[in-house]
Amino acid sequence: MPKVVKADSQSIKKAASILRDGGVVAFPTETVYGLGCDTFNERAALEVYRIKRRPSSNPLIAHVLDIAMAKRVVIGWDVRCQKLAEEFWPGPLTIVLPRRAEVSPSSIGGRSTVAVRSPSHPVARQLLESLGSPISAPSANRSGRISPTRAEHVVEEFAEEPELLVLEGGASEVGLESTVLDLSRARPLILRPGAVTVEMLNSVIGNVSEPFVPGQTNSPGTSAKHYAPRARAELVEPANLERRLQSCPDPVAVLAFRAEIVPAPHVAIVMPTDPREYAAKLYDSLRQADSLERQLILIEKPSERAGLWAAVHDRLRRATA
Ligand code: AMP
Ligand code: MG
Repeated sequence: MPKVVKADSQSIKKAASILRDGGVVAFPTETVYGLGCDTFNERAALEVYRIKRRPSSNPLIAHVLDIAMAKRVVIGWDVRCQKLAEEFWPGPLTIVLPRRAEVSPSSIGGRSTVAVRSPSHPVARQLLESLGSPISAPSANRSGRISPTRAEHVVEEFAEEPELLVLEGGASEVGLESTVLDLSRARPLILRPGAVTVEMLNSVIGNVSEPFVPGQTNSPGTSAKHYAPRARAELVEPANLERRLQSCPDPVAVLAFRAEIVPAPHVAIVMPTDPREYAAKLYDSLRQADSLERQLILIEKPSERAGLWAAVHDRLRRATA
């Protein structure tokens, strides 16, 4: 089992020294927990891919303390980047730009671009401060699985990695992976929707396009099936849920807004109607549903689509693909 330690100044220093020595640690961010390594260390990046069983073509996000540190990773920091960082950093916005030569090629799947983000979680920030250098980190889950929003989720994912240090820093507040915005092209393009919405981005730089068509962009994390539970998951329109449940021969798990329409022996996991609360709870609820070991998980489809709901729908679509 990985070693879970409460994040404090001592354990954070220890984690930073592991990173400095080319090792890998798991740490909390406000989006999801990350599996981090030194951005400039080629061997350390390979270790992240090995532990995650991540395809080598799927690039990592470089986490930075601030704009100055971002400039050690990217080229072409322009006025759009400056405005966005001033508005949304630290926070759940990732920017894709041409990379500096120092960035380890393996950490970005051999691309000419790199994604950067400045996290707001105090533990992630203290870790960056202690290391004094960028940390490349994907979500701390096995490739294709649900992202972890609690330290115990990381332990579930990497049970056979006894050497892995996991900094415990509570539940991730946002609970969904960051918005990924490609600024390496003339027109800004959202590669992955997140808590920084298209509306918010447009209010700062304008002209943002959002294909949101899974698998249509050159960004591996946007493939149609991703972030999936083990059981088969199915999205159901609210009006059809009662009928769909009646047609299930075996007991199922249901992520529903209304517990009262889910009769025993089916099990309801009640979801909040507020989009922030829904997003924060989604991955934990999917893991909870998975742990019930039913064949099928039904998810009552949220009827709203604007703002943060767009990112929620994106993840639900992929969890059920
Ligand atoms: P994760 O941190 O596990 O959510 O994975 C990061 C995701 O960010 C990847 O799967 C990609 O979809 C996206 N990403 C990271 N770097 C790049 C890049 N250079 N170009 C396009 N997309 C990227
Ligand atoms: Mg991931």
